[in-house]
Amino acid sequence: MTTVDWSQLPPPQPLPDADSAGFWQATANGELRLCRCTNCGHWHHPPLEHCRRCAAPTAFEPVTGTGTIYTFIVQRQPAVVGYFDQVPYAVAIVELDQQPGLRLTGRVVDVDIDEVRIGMRVAARIEPLRGGEFQVPVFAPVAVV
Ligand SMILES: [Zn+2]
Repeated sequence: MTTVDWSQLPPPQPLPDADSAGFWQATANGELRLCRCTNCGHWHHPPLEHCRRCAAPTAFEPVTGTGTIYTFIVQRQPAVVGYFDQVPYAVAIVELDQQPGLRLTGRVVDVDIDEVRIGMRVAARIEPLRGGEFQVPVFAPVAVV
């Protein structure tokens, strides 16, 4: 019988589908692109094939990646495979500047977790996801001007 050392396993990897493929293609190129209606311009995340407002087709367009922490958690226990050695760390839902309600989830980096706050201004950057070919957005604080 083989014993699995869970602490050595990489994080779960994304499984792109027809709706999310554009997101993963963009992050592979170091870009953050989200789904937007080609007719009315409404942003959708998670992505949809057609706009829920006007039913027009959607496409992936670049976003600035800047936004505000809407809410967050601090993971203090080694409970998520691939991140055992990262605890404690913060994961936030960030409301992007492009549109009220357009929210994206990611780890918060480059800051002491005790300084993470709802309302904190952050910016996305794309980082490799260990254990595969994917890249994912993470959020780092930005100075408020
Ligand atoms: Zn639309």
